[in-house]
Amino acid sequence: MLASPSCPVCASDTWMSLGTRTHAASDMAHYDDYTNRRFRILFEVWLPGKSEATFESKLCETCGMVIYTPRPTPEEVNEGYRYLLQMPVAPGQRPVSEEVQSVRAKDLFRIMSRYARGGAARVLDFGGGRGQLMTCFADLGCDCFVVDYYPNPIPKVRKLGNTLDELPKNMKFDVVICSHVLERLADPLSVLVQLRSLLSESGILYVEVPMELWRCVPVQARAVEAVNPIDHLNFFTVQPLRFLLERASFSVISCSMDAYVHTNGSRLTAVRAVARASNKVRTRYPDGAARATERIICPDLRLRVQMLAIHPDWLWAAGRSRLIRVREYFARLCRRVPFGR
Ligand SMILES: [Zn+2]
Repeated sequence: MLASPSCPVCASDTWMSLGTRTHAASDMAHYDDYTNRRFRILFEVWLPGKSEATFESKLCETCGMVIYTPRPTPEEVNEGYRYLLQMPVAPGQRPVSEEVQSVRAKDLFRIMSRYARGGAARVLDFGGGRGQLMTCFADLGCDCFVVDYYPNPIPKVRKLGNTLDELPKNMKFDVVICSHVLERLADPLSVLVQLRSLLSESGILYVEVPMELWRCVPVQARAVEAVNPIDHLNFFTVQPLRFLLERASFSVISCSMDAYVHTNGSRLTAVRAVARASNKVRTRYPDGAARATERIICPDLRLRVQMLAIHPDWLWAAGRSRLIRVREYFARLCRRVPFGR
């Protein structure tokens, strides 16, 4: 693992510390099966023989990206996935709802329909598991392909390999999907450069990453089951994702925050981008990106109100939790009468 990595987005070495957290190997026994398996990667593959590991969240002062250190290398990340796949499948793994997958597939199809010129004949989902996100494309008769470590794609989807290096030469795609993958990669720039070379002349790339910085420093997230330091290595906001795409020679058509449905059914925040291949490489850093990320971690009232446009359900949730607190207060008041003895 790398103690002092450069920024995976802009290659800068200017970091601001956001906070630290220490994980002990002995804590693994208290985690659910899913999280336990991730920590086994940490203590058995990445840091064998260690009994604890301290992670530090860092903000790139140049482009606003957040990562943690120590950071696994690309080889260590691949080794971790291979280790995970050779474990027997246990009933304690988190179930993936077919209904949620269907909602996400329809969402993706709706977004891409706005941009695909003349329809899409060939669709590739990089890191797409079994290819469920492409069901709408497959139902329309598109040729759908997936690149992932998972062995059994759904019907109408063909697996081309575990990694991009295994793809047949000169194969081009009209749509390339990279959904909830970039946050897991040690070197996201080189993967985007590879994906760009797979696009046909009018091809479009769809990228979605979770936005996990809202009022939160990732390593200090209260529930380690929600944000563990093994699954996600990169914590994007809009500016770093846009800049990364432009550095990989993409022309960004749109890039913004939006709500998405998590596999557990809850509505969370994502950064979504649509881009086409370009011949230009942007090298000018985004202005004020680090401050913009800080605002997301410690939002002011204006930003909180703006987020309600993405998550109107938060209003209902906030009102409901206040109502519950008021009810609990009065219930306590009625039960604990402070006189009579
Ligand atoms: Zn950076």
